[in-house]
Amino acid sequence: MTQESRKRQFAEPRVVVSKCIEFEPVRYNGDMIPSREVARLKPFIDFIPVCPEVEIGLGIPRETIRIVRTDGVDHLIQPSTGRDVTEEMKTFCTRFLDEIPPVDGFILKNRSPTSGINGVRVYPSAQPSAPIAHGPGFFGGEVLRRYPSYPIEDEGRIKNHRILDHFLTRIYTLADYRIVEEHQTFSGLVEFHSHNKLLLMAHTRKGYEELGRLVGSHKRKAPAGDLIARYRALLLPTIAKAPTYAQNINVMLHSEGRFKHQLNHEEKAVFLDALESYRAGNGTLAGPKNILKSWIARFGDKYLNEQTFFAPYPDALMEYPPEETERGRDLWADFPD
Ligand code: SF4
Repeated sequence: MTQESRKRQFAEPRVVVSKCIEFEPVRYNGDMIPSREVARLKPFIDFIPVCPEVEIGLGIPRETIRIVRTDGVDHLIQPSTGRDVTEEMKTFCTRFLDEIPPVDGFILKNRSPTSGINGVRVYPSAQPSAPIAHGPGFFGGEVLRRYPSYPIEDEGRIKNHRILDHFLTRIYTLADYRIVEEHQTFSGLVEFHSHNKLLLMAHTRKGYEELGRLVGSHKRKAPAGDLIARYRALLLPTIAKAPTYAQNINVMLHSEGRFKHQLNHEEKAVFLDALESYRAGNGTLAGPKNILKSWIARFGDKYLNEQTFFAPYPDALMEYPPEETERGRDLWADFPD
């Protein structure tokens, strides 16, 4: 299924999510974790919900489990019963991750000894004791090991607007790239690279240049398969780190250069003011970006119009704090007119 914005058709990202987040009440106590962010994403994303603890037959409700480190080896133990479910959990993780189709990211439950990706308590014993270390849970750890440089977040971190923005940018980029992999054509790869040039440049200049060299190294008539696999291997780390404001500014100045003969002095000054506000922290990225978008529409710049930098994910998923969008509670309700 594709989703459409004014200028871009989006492939639907596929994301593994902890089932207890907004999907089913599968927690040890029969609860479900509310997540405004996951609830908003549901209509846009092909989610694969999973609860490893239920999958290995621990039931709902169930006694809690914890990670216990003995002789340097971590075990998953149910303290109330003394049951060791380490092997069942490892077998499940292997089977599940072997069998799922290609995915673009993960949203996992934080601090869970099973699903957590960091900060999970590791105990010296199944008896009441203080934690001796922190790390990922069993399932979360296996996901991190198998999917290096992938967008992997927990439901707590994606409450942060910037983390969510970066996560969405990455999963939508990777969902697009899965289409290149399905078609296995060199022309598809060239088109993907060409539409993502500015987005890649904003992430890391070095990665952008290496990816460009990789595409340029292709010999005519050679099969594209190996190249497409190598491109993914380089694409993942290239977009793993969020762009800095300085990198975004470079890309926007580069874009503005395409209109240098068409704009008057005042128009350029308005743009540079918006860029300076963003640089100084008095304005958002949307300010100068929207000016560029209006020029792209006005001058019909096909190259920029196709750049994913200007539409990294559907507009409907863009969100700003309610107090900025005047959608929050009425702050003057208690005051007379
Ligand atoms: S954190 Fe993971 S194992 Fe625990 S209830 Fe949620 S999905 Fe199941």
